[in-house]
Amino acid sequence: MVSIKSKREIELMKKAGHIVYQTHQYLKQYLKPGITTRKLNQLAEDYIISHGATPSFKDFNGYPAAICTSINEEVVHGIPSNYKLKNGDIISIDIGACYKGYHGDSAWSYGIGNISEKQKYLLKHTEEALFEGLRQVKPGNHIGDIGYAIEQYALKHNLGVIRELIGHGVGNSIHEDPDVPNYGKQHTGLMLKEGMTIAIEPMLNLGTREVVMLDDDWTIVTKDGKPSAHFEHTVLVTKDGYLILTGE
Ligand code: MG
Ligand code: MG
Repeated sequence: MVSIKSKREIELMKKAGHIVYQTHQYLKQYLKPGITTRKLNQLAEDYIISHGATPSFKDFNGYPAAICTSINEEVVHGIPSNYKLKNGDIISIDIGACYKGYHGDSAWSYGIGNISEKQKYLLKHTEEALFEGLRQVKPGNHIGDIGYAIEQYALKHNLGVIRELIGHGVGNSIHEDPDVPNYGKQHTGLMLKEGMTIAIEPMLNLGTREVVMLDDDWTIVTKDGKPSAHFEHTVLVTKDGYLILTGE
């Protein structure tokens, strides 16, 4: 069931979303060669807790950490480890926070030190694809309009659009209805209404759109080993558009 949030729920989601945004901003200063992803995880968890929230992903379906740190060909659900960031890596950091029972969810990808032109291209256009999707969010538009806009933009830029992983509703659960795929047909699917809250999250690859799961049963990687990027915001459908909940 797709829920319409009350004023009170929206206020709590704004707070949760803002904590997610602030956690991303806080981590940025540490994104340098030599730091382990485990350390980033600890910093994020401490930050979220010190702001009165809890990390949404911890123990969600048994997930063993507070955030996801996916490096290079890792698409999503990379588990923080002793891996040390290297010059030329890209890292996708996915953060969820729960404040008084309501969640915010946002992922962002970052280059470490000097990255190649191809990596920069991937980051720039995956971020832009997110905003292409966001611009479709308004009452009367459909879920298919969001996916269509993202997919068309990605294809135009020769990037692979992952189909196995999709956006979703957010509320008092980190994942709720509706599904928000990064592909679709215009004017199809659920019609958006004021008060819905959804996470839009394109995951785009420099190569094939095909992905496989690693033996840890969590980490998803590209089949051809080429890099992947991930940008995500949680948004509220407003009277005439959208409001980003995981922003400033
Ligand atoms: Mg996320
Ligand atoms: Mg999400």
